[in-house]
Amino acid sequence: MNERKLQEEKENLIAHYKMNGYIKSPEVVRAFRMVPREEFIEKNLKRMAYLDRPLPILAGQTISAPHMVAMMVSKDILNLQVGDKCLEVGAGSGYHAAVIAEIVAPTGTDEKTRGHVYTIERIKELVDFAKANLERTGYANRVTVIHGDGSMGYPEKAPYDKITVACAAPDIPPPLLKQLKPGGRLVIPVAGGGYFQELKVIFKRKDGSIKSETKCGVAFVPLIGKYGYK
Ligand code: SAM
Repeated sequence: MNERKLQEEKENLIAHYKMNGYIKSPEVVRAFRMVPREEFIEKNLKRMAYLDRPLPILAGQTISAPHMVAMMVSKDILNLQVGDKCLEVGAGSGYHAAVIAEIVAPTGTDEKTRGHVYTIERIKELVDFAKANLERTGYANRVTVIHGDGSMGYPEKAPYDKITVACAAPDIPPPLLKQLKPGGRLVIPVAGGGYFQELKVIFKRKDGSIKSETKCGVAFVPLIGKYGYK
């Protein structure tokens, strides 16, 4: 598949998301344009990069469907701001982390005002995959990939303005709530009834109290770890 065709498909996807309300802000449009999803999947799947579906990566895991990434980074959900310090649980390919980075630390902005993304992954093969993808696409200076159990968060760099979880938990892991700044937001798929999960947005108010909203039904791979599934 040639480069021009891929770019056309990317623009069609963005137009479709704008029409359906998945993308409402110019920051998210910009991030989708800037981050090449085709660089975060295996070469033989490149032609499928802008189909609106999850795709297999390594170790039996998946890169999320692009509409899910668009939704999770939106103003309604995480309300990402330039300068935010973010934690992602479930680095996978590194794509979602790069999209977040392009919003909190846009390419070309002053290093002093830039935010940063810490993304944690339990499978070593994927840690290496995400690192290589982020390096090749120019995001390694704005995204740090950590090997570990993200159900425990990453206390070394806490507290975070925003936390996003890209795998489904049986319940909200207490360490993630603890590591969220007052005024911060957490988005996480949590087990509902049956196969599907509910996408929850947690708001930590300035006084530390918590408000939770359920957005929609979703289907993510499980969060495996101390505060996840065994
Ligand atoms: N955000 C990824 C991307 O852009 O490619 C997709 C994430 S994939 C849907 C979910 C990932 O969560 C998998 O790579 C899986 O190994 C990881 N995962 C599951 N439990 C985890 C845990 N406790 N800590 C860190 N990563 C975990």
